[in-house]
Amino acid sequence: MSLIPKSHPRAKSLLIREKLVSGFDMGLVAKEGLLAQGRGEAFDYLLGEKTGKSAKSAIKAAAAQILLAKMPVISVNGNIAALCPKEIVRLAKQTGSKIEVNLFYSNEKRKKSIANVLKKNGANEILGLDSTKKAILSGIDSARRIVDKNGILLADVIVVPLEDGDRTLALKKAGKKVITFDLNPLSRTSQTANITIVDNVTRAMSLLIESCKKLSKKNKNTLERIAREFDNKKNLSENIIEIKKNLTKRSRIA
Ligand code: ATP
Repeated sequence: MSLIPKSHPRAKSLLIREKLVSGFDMGLVAKEGLLAQGRGEAFDYLLGEKTGKSAKSAIKAAAAQILLAKMPVISVNGNIAALCPKEIVRLAKQTGSKIEVNLFYSNEKRKKSIANVLKKNGANEILGLDSTKKAILSGIDSARRIVDKNGILLADVIVVPLEDGDRTLALKKAGKKVITFDLNPLSRTSQTANITIVDNVTRAMSLLIESCKKLSKKNKNTLERIAREFDNKKNLSENIIEIKKNLTKRSRIA
């Protein structure tokens, strides 16, 4: 049970941290994942710990892109499994996406723990676990180049929350459309992805599911228009402007 009082002004943010620490204790999260969380927290603080207007338009474009995909795959690492296991499964079911476990710091035991958490939350099929189904994604050094030949290798659209820049670039070079969640609008991942949702994944994932539900009633032309009109570079600039505005507001209060 959490010891954080609900009245704490940053209760939500501290609860997210607690989730990640318990994910570490459960063997889902790597030590390095705790550092990534720290970096995310700093940017979330600058964003005012809320979903901005530009994140909302990235979410809408991401939903359209996933619904247009022939074979969407959600790539899962330890941090995302610790933070949003239920939402990953809901998004996969809502959009017919496959789920693949793919770790930067590869470790069979951790992969199994992540798969177990996803299964507990309702996942049926989880790719990335069977060593006989391995394929290699070129242009990348880490263990992340190993992908499932029935998953990421064939995917046209990949959702990669909290990803590193090299992999995002390799996925793009492989011709995939990459959708990411990253609180840092300046990271290589944010700058490389086709659609970057600059928001805390714990807030944005549910919004993405809702948006997919809503847009699933729209026709293909409408979805194509939404995806086509989205400009990631412009959206990232708008994000930075939102951060600046938020900082100005805060410094006036201080
Ligand atoms: P890059 O290689 O893309 O430049 P990096 O090396 O800065 O990335 P990592 O250490 O791989 O980044 O961390 C992943 C990213 O995830 C960071 O940019 C961090 O801001 C972001 N992040 C961490 N926690 C969250 C979260 N809960 N929601 C959204 N983004 C997050």
